[in-house]
Amino acid sequence: MGRFDGRVAFITGGARGQGRSHALAFAREGADIAICDIAAPIASVGYPLGTIDDLAETQRLVEQEDRRCMSAQVDTRDFGALDAFVGRVVADLGSVDFAMANAGISSMAPVDTMAPEMWDEMIATNLTGVFHTLRAVSPHMKRQGFGRIVATSSMLGRQGCANQVHYCASKWGVIGMVKSAAIDLAPFGINVNAVAPGNVRTPMVINDHLFSFFSGEGTTATLDDVLPALQSLHVLPVALVEPEDISNAVLFLCSEEARFVTGATIDVAAGNNCRVTA
Ligand code: NAD
Repeated sequence: MGRFDGRVAFITGGARGQGRSHALAFAREGADIAICDIAAPIASVGYPLGTIDDLAETQRLVEQEDRRCMSAQVDTRDFGALDAFVGRVVADLGSVDFAMANAGISSMAPVDTMAPEMWDEMIATNLTGVFHTLRAVSPHMKRQGFGRIVATSSMLGRQGCANQVHYCASKWGVIGMVKSAAIDLAPFGINVNAVAPGNVRTPMVINDHLFSFFSGEGTTATLDDVLPALQSLHVLPVALVEPEDISNAVLFLCSEEARFVTGATIDVAAGNNCRVTA
């Protein structure tokens, strides 16, 4: 018996990283799973995004847990495609009980030289994509009289950071969105919360583009070279938390134990949050 037997969990950005970890965590608790991912590049992003093969691998891993899994190549910037996939999930799996608005990208540039396209692509994915997810799942949850939504913010949703005007704006925005949606949806049995991770061991951080950016333009660097910089962002003596650490917070927010938790943001940031107010 799992905590979520008979439930359905919907996860954006499910091809790999935290999305894959969430999919497996919910499957192990008995839920059927629906995942989507862009599985294609975005021009302003300097590292490879998830692929069709990654998406298929998450599906295989979920099915290995004896759970049903639907997957689709969907860009969360495209509301029509996302809404249509959520509709198919409800028709085929019976409901959408949990939704993780997890898909996101990273890019870096100072404000004075950031290409407007980089800003637009960031806001479209990390902010509007989260709204699209809430907008697509909430009518079904309202009809069911039950739902749990968890959006992924970041430790950078609580502070400023060099080269991150767009990312910080999007992740601060997610926290405001979650608080406001929680008020709208409270009468209908739907709780809306956020998680704010620190550095997580996923391809968003473990990539040559980020290593080189941290160590200075034109340099080649390895993970070992950037570990001290990553560690300096955390308070606990760990440079990277694991995707499963974020999944554990997400599972809690979707559990019966969190039935009166809504509009909240849980920091899983190895203590980075100690250094920011509120
Ligand atoms: P990741 O790059 O491994 O996974 C993100 C997934 O989202 C990828 O598979 C990618 O293809 C997908 N994606 C990107 N844009 C999309 C779009 N428009 N539509 C659909 N899918 C899209 O990174 P991750 O660490 O697993 O990131 C998950 C979330 O956690 C993101 O919102 C990210 O901003 C956030 N986050 C990450 C870290 C970190 O250190 N890794 C820290 C704080 C917050």
